[in-house]
Order: sequence, then C-alpha cells, then structure tokens
Amino acid sequence: MTERLYYVDSYLTEFEAAVVDRADGGRRVYLERTAFYPTSGGQPHDTGRLGDSAVVDVVEEGDRIAHVLAAPVAGARLAGRVDWGRRFDHMQQHTGQHLLSAVLAQLFGFATVSVHFGAESSTLDLDTAAVGAEQIERAEFRANEVVWENRAVSVSFEAAGSATGLRKAPAREGLLRIVTIGGLDRSACGGTHVRATGEIGPILIPGSARIRTSVRVEFLCGARAVRRARADRTLLSRLALPFSAPPEALPALVAALRAERDEAAAARRELEGNLARFRAAELYQATAPDRVGVRRAVLRGSREPIDALRTLAQAFTALSRAVLIAATDSPPVLLVAASADAGVDAAAALKTVLARVGGRGGGTARLAQGSVGSPEQLEAALAALTA
Ligand SMILES: [Zn+2]
Repeated sequence: MTERLYYVDSYLTEFEAAVVDRADGGRRVYLERTAFYPTSGGQPHDTGRLGDSAVVDVVEEGDRIAHVLAAPVAGARLAGRVDWGRRFDHMQQHTGQHLLSAVLAQLFGFATVSVHFGAESSTLDLDTAAVGAEQIERAEFRANEVVWENRAVSVSFEAAGSATGLRKAPAREGLLRIVTIGGLDRSACGGTHVRATGEIGPILIPGSARIRTSVRVEFLCGARAVRRARADRTLLSRLALPFSAPPEALPALVAALRAERDEAAAARRELEGNLARFRAAELYQATAPDRVGVRRAVLRGSREPIDALRTLAQAFTALSRAVLIAATDSPPVLLVAASADAGVDAAAALKTVLARVGGRGGGTARLAQGSVGSPEQLEAALAALTA
C-alpha cells in the first residue's frame, strides 16, 4: 500500500522515498510513499522526475501507485519532484469544479453526475434536460464571487456513517476524505485542491450543450480562463479589423453583410436569367430547323459550370420546337433539354443512351442530366444522341 502524501499536502512537490518494488524491467517503480497523483476521479496524473528519469505516467493499481518512467533508475531510495505547473493547474480546475457544482446545485438544484478534466478544458454533466443561457451566466458570476471571497478549502478524514452535509452521498464505506469549501460545500474526494478559493483564479464557462438526457457544461479556471478570454478577444478583434469597427459592432455588421449578400445573389440570378435568354435567342437564330421543323443545338466542350448550362438549356427550350444537347468534359456531364412541342422526351432519350454507354442520371421530359465515367463514354453518348 502506497502512502499518498498528496492526501494531506497538495503543495508538496519534493520528497524522498524507499523503493518497495520494480516491474517492467525497472521502468515501473513502486515507492513506500509518493507525492505523485495517479490518474483517478477524472483528474489526470502528475508528471515530474524520479531519480534522474522523467515520470511519464502515474497509475493507480488497487492501493498501490505505479510510477511509469521513461528509463529505469537504480537505487533503494529515490528523490521525487512533481511538475508544479501541471499539478497546480489541475488543482485549480478540480477545486473550481467543486465550487461550480456547488453553486449550480445551490442556485438551480442541478446535480453534477459526472466530471471530465481535459487538457484544453474540462466539463461537468448536470442532471437536467436544459440549462438557460441566463442560468449559465448567473452560475459563472456567483462562482467568481466565491473565488474573490477567498474562502478556505480544507481536507478532513471522516467516517462515512457520521459525515454530514455532503453534496453527494458517498459511494463507499469506511473513512472518507472530505474536501470542504468554507460555508459552501462538502464533498468526498481523493483529488488535489487549492487551499483557498482565491487560488482558483477566474472561472469561465465558454458554453454548454445537451448530451442525451443531461447538459454538459464546459469550464476553465485560472490561467486557462485568462488564455481563453484573450484568444476570444483576439479573434473578435481580427474579425472586426476589416470593418475598421470595434468588435461590439460585429453583430450589426454581419447582419448587414448577410442582407447585402442576399440582395446581390438575387440580382445576379436575374442577370444570369437575362443573359441566358439573350444567348438562347442568338443560338436559336443560328440553328437551322431540321426537316420536321425542330432546331437541335449541340454545345460541346463548354467550360461553363453545369448550372449555367442548365439555365441556358431552359431558356433555349422555352422557345418553340427546340432541343439542346450540352456536354462538359471535366467532369464528363451531359444535358438533354427539349421544349414541350419538340416531340422529344429528354429523360427517356438520356436513359436510353446511358443504358447503352454506361453512366447514371435522370430528370424530367423537359430537362435531364447524366454523368459518365470517361471522355470515350461521353463521345459515344453524344454520338448516339445527335445521330
Ligand atoms: Zn475534488
């Protein structure tokens, strides 16, 4: 059984301990006692040094703690040093989570059902179907108030049967380690915490999302909150820069831009329609009627987008006794369009040809579109359609 020094002192970073066991060719070391926190309770493990090797993982194996080293280290006693930056960050996130969960329970009766501490941000899942934006804002503000009230955070060991006032009923019997935020919260927890709420630093809730039957709240504490707020502000400034306007003007600017874009798109559609009608009239004049009086125009190797060709085909076949066959090389796409009085069913004609040369497509009697796999298939299809 490894004595957990972090249970009584989360601030201890340097210690010395006897080696009680080794495994994995000396890369897995067991000590009589340790300040290294193993991955557990949702909190990630510490890193640091043991002897002259890096500690890359710390694993809880029942009541023993394994230190996974980058390289084996000799010696019956070893000096350990915990990476304080990573540990303190975890202490801030973890204590911040207790605080936030307590505030959410106190203000709205939302119970925290699970917690995840991530490398970027952390989340807690609330036992509720919905959380309003106003509730998020209120909880965030109240949590920050408790931070600057700088309340004491203390650890005590109490028997499960006699421990009272816990936010959540304990999951196990025996001696509990209880973390208390003065006048606010008592929770059974084995993690590492700061000694006063002021050390949590600012608490930021970037957002929340519904996950099945609960709501997941994302939160950041301390330096993470400051960095996120800075990143958000930088992003807003970059967005506002082209407008020479302050970020606060962005919502109105974006709404105005969208309206402008929609107007421009409508105007462009109208112009494209006009242009297509002019081009169709020109093409119609240049195409001689066949013996039965139908004008068949063929457009080959067009580099126009297929949508523009469709618009042209529709304008052309809006005219009397007209058939248009158009093709683009890349990708190999075919269009068949026919006026209502041309005596041609566009979809049927395309289907017959595609059945012969391969390819897929479809449409209506007036307009059909198909794609083939190769330039050779396109040639064969065109030859069949114009025969
Ligand atoms: Zn905790």
